[in-house]
Amino acid sequence: MTTEIYLDGNATTAVLPAAIAAAADAMGQRYGNPSSSHATGLKAKVLLDQARACAIRLLGVGEGRLMFNSGATEGIQTAVLSALAALRERRERGEPIGSLLVYGATEHKAVPESLAHWNRLLGLNLTLQKLPVDQDGAHDLAQLRALAPQAGLVCTMAANNETGVITDLAAIEAVLAETGSPAYWLVDCVQALGKLDLNLAATRIDYAPFSGHKLYAPKGVGMLYVRAGAPFTPLIMGGGQEGGQRSGTENMAGIAALGAVLSALERGDTFRSHHQLASYRARLAESLRAALPGVVFNHPFDKSLPTTLNFSVPGLSSRELMDVFDAAQVRVSSGSACSAAKAAPSYVLDAMHAPLWRSAGAIRMSFGPLADEATINDACRRIERCGAALRASCLIPSERTAVPHDGLLQLGVEGACSWLVLDAASRSCIVIDPLPEMTGRIESYVRCQNYHVQAIVSTTSGADRSVLIEALGRHFDHRAATDAYGWPAAAAIKLGAQTLARVADGAARHYLLGVADGDTLAPRAVRFAFSARPAVDVLRPLTCAQTLLCPTRDEHNQFCVGMAAPANAGAASDLQLDSAALDAFLQAHPDAQLVDVREPYEFAATTAPGPGGRQALSVPLGRLAEHASDWLRGEHAPLIFFCRSGNRSQKAAQLLRRLGHAQAYSLNGGLALAPLAKAA
Ligand code: PLP
Repeated sequence: MTTEIYLDGNATTAVLPAAIAAAADAMGQRYGNPSSSHATGLKAKVLLDQARACAIRLLGVGEGRLMFNSGATEGIQTAVLSALAALRERRERGEPIGSLLVYGATEHKAVPESLAHWNRLLGLNLTLQKLPVDQDGAHDLAQLRALAPQAGLVCTMAANNETGVITDLAAIEAVLAETGSPAYWLVDCVQALGKLDLNLAATRIDYAPFSGHKLYAPKGVGMLYVRAGAPFTPLIMGGGQEGGQRSGTENMAGIAALGAVLSALERGDTFRSHHQLASYRARLAESLRAALPGVVFNHPFDKSLPTTLNFSVPGLSSRELMDVFDAAQVRVSSGSACSAAKAAPSYVLDAMHAPLWRSAGAIRMSFGPLADEATINDACRRIERCGAALRASCLIPSERTAVPHDGLLQLGVEGACSWLVLDAASRSCIVIDPLPEMTGRIESYVRCQNYHVQAIVSTTSGADRSVLIEALGRHFDHRAATDAYGWPAAAAIKLGAQTLARVADGAARHYLLGVADGDTLAPRAVRFAFSARPAVDVLRPLTCAQTLLCPTRDEHNQFCVGMAAPANAGAASDLQLDSAALDAFLQAHPDAQLVDVREPYEFAATTAPGPGGRQALSVPLGRLAEHASDWLRGEHAPLIFFCRSGNRSQKAAQLLRRLGHAQAYSLNGGLALAPLAKAA
């Protein structure tokens, strides 16, 4: 199980082998310029004409225009420019044009951004008006009825890219007709191609942009349909290609490839039927329900493309879900691809009135009509594996008690963090500075490993611990008396073999952890000190050079700092180990340790063997302080940290270098770029 399963078809698709062959032919044998009148040019022209003729038949273009371009963003641009230029001319002639540019609240950003751009550039100054959708993603037709008479242009997509929700185009057309709206109508058909039947000339649609790369053609090629009689203004002027509608020598490789896809679509022998695709979606949904308890689908399946599932899981962020799927080599996306880097809530789900946890935590799983049974079955098995990995990591509820952890765990949110001191032997733990945002995480961690929480202490006086105390229920002794810092009536807290001692520092408190000799925790025995801020001066007499300071504010992702002045971490490039150099490095350093710093659920869900084919140690960033303390004591054998992209491992290597470990490295580009080792 090492191959990638690509379930992000709404972002882009692989290229159909027949399309690759057609592109290669257009670049190889038939490389001519279709505008040339010699035989080489004519051969290319035939390709162009065949592709266009196929598109015209397939989309029911009738007497309308069908031009090739670079993709849907260009098509939207051209359509908006055409409609708005016509509106301006009409206004100049003294005709009424309405005052609104209406667009669906769930449109791809290319639509409102183009509307705003051309509205400003053409000096039209019309009002951009969002058309709301209901919780199923359907346009509010009553609102459209009210707006349509004032609208100069209405933009509604055929199917949504995030949720697959299909627009009832017939209902919109009926509203435009019954209100006598003078508006032009743009329908973004990108996600509909190959998945919905289209007969454009039989509708009132004025403009319909398409994109090749959403249906197995390469990126950088698309089409625009313009209804016969609808206004048209070229976006690009020049040599007069595409009948003067879109100048620039044609992207013949792209057009030939798109032509091959369209011809496969027309023949009907390549892509799966709606029914088959719907059965694949049902199977994926069933696996998701079984693997991820409480999963909520963010759109009605019966009103969506059969190739899209958009879901959220209570208690899990989209980042966590993305990471676990990626580890299992299942490629999905959070929200829309354009905003995948940001964990911002999805504006599409916001518009559908989804609560914040669903719109910020959403995952889109989408496949194309070329999907096959074996891939879907494999995807279902990997979804189950992801569920098991999340259960074992206590991120989703499980019937079974998880194997308990020992040592320190850092749980952070945006610069602040809580620390858990865990003792597996006695199944007990201590919580230091519980963050309100971490309540659910701490509670499920404690419950699933069946720990008894001995104490919940704070570094500041009067911090609110009540929410966590209530959430912990029987896992915490509510009756024990504590001071304003949560400290019980004892000089020190014993946790298995370890002792936690407190240090007063004005209004603040610091805590020291180590193995006490009798009742006293000697400075040389202190392994960790916990503080809201690194109070080195106060702590120096009470600790030793090996003590690590664990701050509960960690804006710069330092994890922990040493008592001594930090060593120079070196230039970022000194830390980087290229995957091409990994084998040689491992041969030269047989004692080198590979350390996987991804989260435990990513480690558990991983299907591919690790880099270098060597067994890796799993040490997520939250457990780094604990392990750093051990690594620094020993011989300082080389440490090679890795993660998915090289981001987290770089932080880990920097930490170890700062703490004085001279041989800490980060695998450049992470697992994403590492050549896969052969499975044993
Ligand atoms: N419209 C929709 C619905 C899309 O999904 C996309 C692609 O993300 C676009 C427009 C933009 O298409 P292109 O990448 O061809 O510019």
